[in-house]
Amino acid sequence: MTTTEGPPRGAGRVEGGCTLTFDDGPDSEWTPRVLAELDRCEARATFFVIGARVDCAPELAHAAVDRGHDVELHCDRHVRHTELTDRELEDDTRSGLLALERAGLPRPTRWRPPWGICSEASPRVAVEQGLELVGWTIDTHDWRGDASAEMLEAAGSGIEDGAIVLMHDALGPGARRQGVGETVGLIGPLCALARGQGLRVVSLSQEARARAAPRRLGAPG
Ligand SMILES: [Zn+2]
Repeated sequence: MTTTEGPPRGAGRVEGGCTLTFDDGPDSEWTPRVLAELDRCEARATFFVIGARVDCAPELAHAAVDRGHDVELHCDRHVRHTELTDRELEDDTRSGLLALERAGLPRPTRWRPPWGICSEASPRVAVEQGLELVGWTIDTHDWRGDASAEMLEAAGSGIEDGAIVLMHDALGPGARRQGVGETVGLIGPLCALARGQGLRVVSLSQEARARAAPRRLGAPG
């Protein structure tokens, strides 16, 4: 882990950023707690949601958007792409997108497949639907139920410019924990760690804008 003795935050400098991502929601009990903690930490995040769960709780997905977070596509049914025929994958992707559309949410531009597993067809379906496939650089394994301090110790060293942290705001398939409290408890320390390195904690769309700006405009200094 590097400690920062970086350049001063001068005008025009685009700071680096890292992103917290939350899969498998929305969840009526846990998503509000994650949102409240993100508010408290003044952080923006990216949520990869399950279409069927958006159908059950569209107001939670809207709450995330209203607070400046991204709501992007995870799936409709939580199945590995490699276990689906090409047709089933196309159908699941369309169903998930339709659920977000029914809820009146912005059209997603990013897609994280269940377990991050792609089939040969996934990149093609992504292009057809105008979605960018997104993985992660840090896996907190929060589904296991480890304490937030343990997760911080294991994952914290990966916090760096451009880092994408995988977390969950709901109990997905295979979760070995009763609730998402330890994930909520990890948000503050991760934000502090990132900011200690001079990094902003931003959504992927904010991060993309920050990275596009200097290339488009020419970065001063
Ligand atoms: Zn998932």
